[in-house]
Amino acid sequence: MERLVMNEYLNKVLEKTRRLNEEQPEYLQAVEEVLTSIEPVINAHPEFEKLAILERMVEPERCILFRVPWVNDAGQVIVNRGYRIQYSSLIGPYKGGLRFHPSVNLSIMKFLGFEQIFKNALTGLPIGGAKGGSDFDPKGKSEGEIMRFCQSFMTELYRHIGQDVDVPAGDIGVGAREIGYLFGQYKKIKDAYEGGVLTGKDICYGGSLARKEATGYGLMFFMREMLKKHGKSLDGKTVTISGSGNVAIYACQKAYAMGAKVVAMSDSNGCVYDENGIDLETIKKIKEVQRGRIKEYLNFHPNAQYFESVNSSHPIWNIKTDIALPCATQNELNIEEARVLLKNGVIAVGEGANMPCTYEAAKYLIENGVLFAPAKAANAGGVATSAIEMSQNSMRYYYTFEEVEHKLERIMINIFNNCAKASEEFGHSGNYLDGANIAAFKQLSDAMKAQGVV
Ligand code: NDP
Repeated sequence: MERLVMNEYLNKVLEKTRRLNEEQPEYLQAVEEVLTSIEPVINAHPEFEKLAILERMVEPERCILFRVPWVNDAGQVIVNRGYRIQYSSLIGPYKGGLRFHPSVNLSIMKFLGFEQIFKNALTGLPIGGAKGGSDFDPKGKSEGEIMRFCQSFMTELYRHIGQDVDVPAGDIGVGAREIGYLFGQYKKIKDAYEGGVLTGKDICYGGSLARKEATGYGLMFFMREMLKKHGKSLDGKTVTISGSGNVAIYACQKAYAMGAKVVAMSDSNGCVYDENGIDLETIKKIKEVQRGRIKEYLNFHPNAQYFESVNSSHPIWNIKTDIALPCATQNELNIEEARVLLKNGVIAVGEGANMPCTYEAAKYLIENGVLFAPAKAANAGGVATSAIEMSQNSMRYYYTFEEVEHKLERIMINIFNNCAKASEEFGHSGNYLDGANIAAFKQLSDAMKAQGVV
């Protein structure tokens, strides 16, 4: 859906971006969302046009595409495509996760890289924006296949990264196991121990305590602050969480710790509903240990219900809830699903995944008074803690779990306050989607002006 803006300069840039990226719907969606919401800032800064601030903001510094050949257990050579989008080094080394999923393509990589520059700015830490990954599907692969793929991926990627250059981390399909194989190969090729070249490492060789928990915990800190500002709390609220991966699991853990009850979680095949509250230990066993399907939850809790996803539908959004947390993937909550959530009385939606709500869904929820925590801000706790992991690696020192969690909590409170302040300053009070985009854009445009035309 094309959005209306009045500012001529913005319209010119939007038109050019659409023309140049016709085949990249997710990328256009992310750019349009940001450019639409920063209109008041552009109106206040006519000098931005001469400096081509927006044109520079929507063009990645570098897009790297590469071949990833590897041998499967049957001896067959397979070729996947690898990506690294080094989007912006304005405020620090390129930083952003790697995603291994069959849906990965240039549009998805660029949208994630673009989102990442704003998210990283919001953390207040010195990290630029990047994203990478491959169309490799880790599902059903043996340990040996996963290791060989990761080694081949790093055999090309290593020449583009470094602890002061570009620092990848995990994302969908890339957890501590994959980061371990990637790190091992990097170290072997470079013959040097650069601890800070990857984040999301295991604790036994330089990872940070609380990194695994950080995105989900951070989401709940943001949610708590947002509810508090509007005189509400998590206590006694029901919560539904899509996904059952890293973000979803630790959002669930923190939601319980904050007094809420999580009644449903999902994976790409369907969702489980447990009116007594989802038993997180069972989910962790199925997903983190057995790497199974969420349906298996019923083997342990036969009174729970399972709803299969048909034709990529998301049955989880039909379940009545006070708070909905999309924590799986992009565009997993559309306008029809938003309508159902609202009809069922949802009071808040928090984006744990990147761009999980379509723009129409997000706008509809906000316009109808649902408190909306946008991904860039609400899920920034993961990358913020990655930056804390990098600083521990540089210092050759470890913080305790409590120290890291405390820093994370402070960062999330700051992010919320900055989004709230920016939304008020530009007359969009309570619209944290616009607030997040405006707060991040202001910092990035200041940095761009300060560094000249490079
Ligand atoms: P994981 O791989 O750990 O988990 C992803 C979960 O989402 C799984 O339950 C998976 O189900 C489900 N899922 C993935 N793709 C789809 C799909 N196309 N349709 C339906 N369900 C799907 O990933 P993370 O938890 O790390 O990441 C989840 C989201 O959070 C992503 O958008 C990511 O970019 C974002 N994010 C992650 C951060 C992190 O620190 N990990 C930081 C900030 C954002 P199945 O098992 O069936 O594939």
